[in-house]
Amino acid sequence: MSTAVSQLEHTYADAVPDLVLNWSAAPVRNPSALVVNDELAAELGLDPRELVGSGLLTGTVPEGVQPVAMAYSGHQFGMYQPRLGDGRALLLGEIVDPQGHRHDLHLKGSGRTRFARGGDGRAALGPMLREYLMGEAMHALGIPTSRGLAVSTTGEDVPRDTGLLPGAVLARVASSHIRVGTFQYAAATGGPDLVRALTDHAIARHHPEATDVLDFYRRVVHAQAALIAQWMLVGFVHGVMNTDNTTISGETIDYGPCAFMDRYDPQTVFSSIDHAGRYAYGNQPPIARWNLARLGEALLPLIDEDSDTAIEKATAVVQEFGEVYERHFQAGMAAKLGLREPDPDLVADLLALLHAQQVDWTGFFRAGTPRDLFLDRDAYDAWAARWHPELDRDHANPLYVPRNHLVDEALTAAEQGDLAPFLEILEVVSAPYTEQPGRERYTEPGSGPFVTYCGT
Ligand code: AMP
Ligand code: MG
Repeated sequence: MSTAVSQLEHTYADAVPDLVLNWSAAPVRNPSALVVNDELAAELGLDPRELVGSGLLTGTVPEGVQPVAMAYSGHQFGMYQPRLGDGRALLLGEIVDPQGHRHDLHLKGSGRTRFARGGDGRAALGPMLREYLMGEAMHALGIPTSRGLAVSTTGEDVPRDTGLLPGAVLARVASSHIRVGTFQYAAATGGPDLVRALTDHAIARHHPEATDVLDFYRRVVHAQAALIAQWMLVGFVHGVMNTDNTTISGETIDYGPCAFMDRYDPQTVFSSIDHAGRYAYGNQPPIARWNLARLGEALLPLIDEDSDTAIEKATAVVQEFGEVYERHFQAGMAAKLGLREPDPDLVADLLALLHAQQVDWTGFFRAGTPRDLFLDRDAYDAWAARWHPELDRDHANPLYVPRNHLVDEALTAAEQGDLAPFLEILEVVSAPYTEQPGRERYTEPGSGPFVTYCGT
């Protein structure tokens, strides 16, 4: 096995032993690597063939390597759950790539852990392929994200609401899996000393320029504000923005019932379990801010001895979210519209128009004649009379995003043993800005509202 794999590091487990549980992957009947990310493997300094042969992708670790389940809590749909944790996931270890960057190597679907509660510890093939595809699409769009290293089938069926589904294990890589929920768990179970140890580790790893805990908090707030602005610019709806799915690094993580919006509508929801629309497209910025306020609460004792002062300081920082978000969003919209300077009024009127006319979000920005997308052409003309693009817009506007109906089609085929549609859509969304002749159907919106089932 390559040195990188036999030298999996464990600085997280060493820094915060109270936040991990030594655990091993459950053996699987017939592991087989279905999709392997050669490009990512190369970036990590790993040989893809060795990786497959090693069994690591389904949890076989070299002598001396100790995987762990990570502990965390979190607010799920606003309700605090004191003990979530990796119920079906494992941190195999950390890889330092040839450039010196540290990454978590993590499995999902690797069997029950002590955090599993009622779950079976398994994952179905469809959702693991979805996570892999979405991560690659986001990466190609230039948005910080965890990435799939491989999806392996297990040769076992997993029972789900819709029947027996093929089982799978996802191996994924992230700059870390430290979540807002990790801080909540540390604060609730260990108090200030444990939060301090976790904070020191997170600072060293993700925000080494931070001068103190408050400044660390500020950097997390800013990183998340930048991230959410990028989601909004591409029409991405995460679907499950619980505090346990919100990272300290500012990367997108835990792709569940997520999707890209077709027609522009702030109320867009895909998740079958999000009845109230808490995590609708347009709610994502305030929800992220709310999640970051929960992080602030966990950090309070480290921010100031005096609790009133601590609250005052943390509140001032979380209030920066709105301004930082708006700056990133408006800069991104200016680029999408080919403007030299942000123009919030022009943007606000465009959004109102796209909403009223139910125009496809991604399609509008790359349309040859956008006017054709509007039923009320006069309304469009009135807006367009104020729009004077000066810069090239193609690099700021993807032609291809993973359209819901096509993702669904590809995953259904994969479940039935035909991987070709999945590989094609993966290839298409991996080059989102480049026109790919013959692939026009990937630019078309689906025909109606779409529900994505959690289907975990
Ligand atoms: P998620 O919705 O994937 O972010 O997961 C929320 C929580 O439920 C985490 O603690 C997961 O580890 C746990 N979980 C989800 N599905 C399963 C499963 N099939 N078996 C065990 N735990 C699970
Ligand atoms: Mg999660």
